Amino acid sequence: MSDLADRLASVQGSIADAARDAGRNPHEVTTVVVTKFQPVSLIRELVRLGVHDIGENRHQEAQQKAAQLADLDLRWHFVGQLQGKKARQVRAYATAIHSIDRASLVDALRSDEASVDCFVQVNLTDDPKRGGVQPDDLDPLVEHVLATPGLRLRGLMAVAPLGEPPRPAFARVRLLSERVQRIAPDAGDLSMGMSHDFRDAVLEGATHLRIGTAITGNRPEAG
Ligand SMILES: *Cc1c(COP(=O)(O)O)cnc(C)c1O
Repeated sequence: MSDLADRLASVQGSIADAARDAGRNPHEVTTVVVTKFQPVSLIRELVRLGVHDIGENRHQEAQQKAAQLADLDLRWHFVGQLQGKKARQVRAYATAIHSIDRASLVDALRSDEASVDCFVQVNLTDDPKRGGVQPDDLDPLVEHVLATPGLRLRGLMAVAPLGEPPRPAFARVRLLSERVQRIAPDAGDLSMGMSHDFRDAVLEGATHLRIGTAITGNRPEAG
């Protein structure tokens, strides 16, 4: 097996173990492999290994890769901060947008075309640069998404804060999700868990893991 195949199999094994430990079915968990800064050749190899969910965090790079790999059956997940003026272009190739964090972005994504899946990103820190809506402002943003044509709310997304244990942070997201489901009963998905904390995320109910380096190896440039 290649190194990539080894790492993928090892991560998939750890996810299955975590799911079983949590009393969950591993098939409830979608692994989005984040390929930012990686060449399209690596994505082709991932597809040969059975991966179909690919994550990118920069629009230009994602758009180019989606065009170059249009022959493949891929689901593109946009996971990075998104400028309003790029929103419509991202809709054109993305299956899901994980980084909805403000009303103006929701308005920019409004469309009469087929719905795109989306996750509202919650900021678990006090630093606005980290992206995401503050928990206190979550409910009005969720209501705005629900009222906007062309968006299908799947649930919440979060990145664990640096410098504190991830599991309690993910537990906070799970509680916020329970609150959101009172106004959006179909929006129970949780996009959380990266290379270093995906086990904790699975234990707290993650449905979408966003895993980069643990599968791809180190990124060619600083990410
Ligand atoms: C890069 C990135 C990931 C993956 O990070 P790794 O630590 O490489 O697993 C997940 N989510 C977002 C938003 C990212 O930008």
